[in-house]
Amino acid sequence: MTTIALLASLLPLSYAAWYLILCVVSPWGRCRRCHGRRYHRTAIGTRRDCRRCDGTGRRARIGRRLAEYIRAEYRAGNR
Ligand SMILES: [Zn+2]
Repeated sequence: MTTIALLASLLPLSYAAWYLILCVVSPWGRCRRCHGRRYHRTAIGTRRDCRRCDGTGRRARIGRRLAEYIRAEYRAGNR
């Protein structure tokens, strides 16, 4: 039973580690709203740029934004 408890406590840790690796390797995720297509289809059938990703089809992962924020704060403090 102890091994199960150990594994259960390691799971969120390994998940966090994997997420951090993912943020470094591929900081850009596919836009959830347009699924990377960069546009929406309106009711009348015309294409419209996705507002959430500004027509790029990609969006920064939260972890990456956090890393950038920390870096910016670090730089501002060293000025
Ligand atoms: Zn989008």
